[in-house]
Amino acid sequence: MNAVTLKPGRERSVLQGHPWIFSGAIESGCDIPAATPVQVFSSKSEVLGTGIYSPASMIRVRLLKGDIKDLVRKAIGKRTFLSAASAARLIYAENDGIPGLIVDSYANHFVLQITSALAEYYKPQILEVLQEYHPKSISERLDTDARKKEGLEVGTWRLLAGDNPPDLIEIEENGLKFLVDIRKGHKTGYYLDQREARALVGSLSKDKTVLNCFCYTGGFGLYAACGGAKEVTQVDLSEEALALAQKNAELNAGGLKSTPTIVRADVFKYLRFLRDAGRHFDLIVLDPPKFAESKSQLMKAARGYKDINLLAMKLLAPGGTLATFSCSGAMTPEFFDTILREASVDAKRDFQIIARTRQASDHPVALNFPEGLYLKGVVLRAND
Ligand code: SAH
Repeated sequence: MNAVTLKPGRERSVLQGHPWIFSGAIESGCDIPAATPVQVFSSKSEVLGTGIYSPASMIRVRLLKGDIKDLVRKAIGKRTFLSAASAARLIYAENDGIPGLIVDSYANHFVLQITSALAEYYKPQILEVLQEYHPKSISERLDTDARKKEGLEVGTWRLLAGDNPPDLIEIEENGLKFLVDIRKGHKTGYYLDQREARALVGSLSKDKTVLNCFCYTGGFGLYAACGGAKEVTQVDLSEEALALAQKNAELNAGGLKSTPTIVRADVFKYLRFLRDAGRHFDLIVLDPPKFAESKSQLMKAARGYKDINLLAMKLLAPGGTLATFSCSGAMTPEFFDTILREASVDAKRDFQIIARTRQASDHPVALNFPEGLYLKGVVLRAND
């Protein structure tokens, strides 16, 4: 096996269990072929671990902490709440000890998202173990930017095993039904990570007027309507997402207190339109896409977050609630709080934090991999 030796002092994070080795930490180990196993040594020649070498990436080596097949079984074994129709993340990459591998299950259709040379290298073994769970199909999304950075083939979607899945897969989540497009939908098809936050919003919605911004296929709004909201408005820019939001509303019609109104609009403009029209809402959800891809985009992102939060704060009825989220990993919870505080000052309203949320528990964060936390939510109640 090829050897990679680190510069003096650069073994610290590895000894603490962090699985990444950046190019700048490496003393020697050039001319190693891409996507091959390497053994990593400290400057004092201690063995630190084994991983897969990826010369195209800034993260030159990702370490695997154990036997790949054991790691896959262990990760899935921890997701004990699966029922036949439910959807869940089965494997969450570094946080389950397998860098760059995501596996989501939608009513037993497994969808992979591989973003590391390591996961690509072990793909045959990974697929072998996944078959032990008798999925209806196993497919793969190839459309992430992370694949490009890692020098992996980029494409759309492909079937790896089993029968061709239906165009839309019906899943069940806390008693609600959703249609998921695993071929073209966002991420692997659906935002599994907001499951718990959606349930919280549902529980806060009784008799409320609700505005769900960046609604995608309608999640938060349907939970609100099911939780007794008297009026729900769903807003998004994507026509495909809204078509599914409409279908999802029809699918759950029997359980909804009100029929959501669907609006295709740019949220930045629509919030201004509502302000100018003098509208108010009891509960507003802001779940925007990732505004910051990296630390360098953080200040620009902060302006975007402040803008929509300020507008939403002004649109709240007295005593209203704002459930606001950031899924940018580069945005720390502290910085997000600061932005919300500044927005509240400009909105001239006081708020209490009544809850904080994070990505659902099937997206756990490894203690030694803080990068695993990306989704943060704050639920604010106006003090008036
Ligand atoms: N809350 C959703 C996930 C939201 S993902 C859920 O629980 O499933 C972010 C959504 O924002 C995407 O659907 C995307 O189409 C939409 N979007 C991005 N920019 C937008 C904009 N400027 N105005 C309206 N929607 C936008």
